[in-house]
Amino acid sequence: MTFPPIRDELRGLEPYGAPQLSKDTAPVQLNVNENPYPPSEAVVADIAKAVAEAAATLNRYPDREFTELREALAAYLGHGVSPSQMWAANGSNEVMLQLLQAFGGPGRTALSFAPTYSMYPEYARDTVTEWVVGHRETDFSLDLDAARAKVKEIRPHVVLLPSPNNPTGTALPPEAVSMLCEAAGDGIVVVDEAYGEFRRTGTPSALELLPAYRNLVVTRTMSKAFALAGARLGYLAAAPEICDAIRVVRLPYHLSAVTQATALAALRHAPELLGAVDALRAERDTTVDWLRDQGLQVADSDANFVLFGVFGDRHAVWQGMLDRGVLIRETGPDGWLRVSVGTPDEMTAFKNALTEVLT
Ligand SMILES: *Cc1c(COP(=O)(O)O)cnc(C)c1O
Repeated sequence: MTFPPIRDELRGLEPYGAPQLSKDTAPVQLNVNENPYPPSEAVVADIAKAVAEAAATLNRYPDREFTELREALAAYLGHGVSPSQMWAANGSNEVMLQLLQAFGGPGRTALSFAPTYSMYPEYARDTVTEWVVGHRETDFSLDLDAARAKVKEIRPHVVLLPSPNNPTGTALPPEAVSMLCEAAGDGIVVVDEAYGEFRRTGTPSALELLPAYRNLVVTRTMSKAFALAGARLGYLAAAPEICDAIRVVRLPYHLSAVTQATALAALRHAPELLGAVDALRAERDTTVDWLRDQGLQVADSDANFVLFGVFGDRHAVWQGMLDRGVLIRETGPDGWLRVSVGTPDEMTAFKNALTEVLT
């Protein structure tokens, strides 16, 4: 044995994470799909008050069932979802890990279609779940017949797909979700709607299909549209049996009293926190058009980011942008880069920097 006795498959691996640079190095931060607008003074004051009240009870463990929060999340989601169908954790990334702890594991398989969210294979690895990827088409859509065949061949316990997809921005049409739920049989189908609120008009949410499929899980987060990435609150809606299965693997009292108070206060201000979503969607559409006008390839986006390329040396473009104070993300298929949608001023800085880098 060598010290530290870390699992063989983890030895020498680097922890995952986009570069987190200071505002001095990178004044324009467009790399992790955050909402660029901080909460207003009124929202900050209300959250502070709620946290102060929670602080007075910190000698006690929090409500393990986070009952009030599940009620508030169900009310926010609508679509007839009940509190017994809600589950929450510290970011939807923790929700995803819990799903694999409960439904994956040794001898079990999780399936996605690449390009897909880069964290999923790490959760599969951490839970000793076999990780298999099929492929998307060149326009990043899913070929339904090929995807059905893949699901039938692999017979996964868990199918994991972001919609809108990260890093491409592609949303799944409802017929794709239905097909996956039917093809998966008793396996679960997780549609990760972290960017759901940014969908273009006419793109439905998988929440509409929940009553039809007991194996469908729709995850959401307060980190993106909701402008609350720092609070760490993600959640899912699914059949109550699925929530009960997760209860078995969750840590006791995993959602702190401070987290619950923060999320509840924020949900009371949902319209205001989501107030910038329409402006961000418009800015995204403008960014897509502008990038196309530059002669670049751009993926259609239903999210708050845009994937563009194709560059022979994308790292040089990324570095050139950073040298000009604009931090974007080197991710996705070879040659592509991803930019998160920021404020109008930030997008002007992005366009100016990219124009310089490309000439
Ligand atoms: C950002 C993101 C999440 C959300 O992560 P949190 O842990 O809730 O902050 C989930 N899925 C995808 C695909 C994402 O890009």
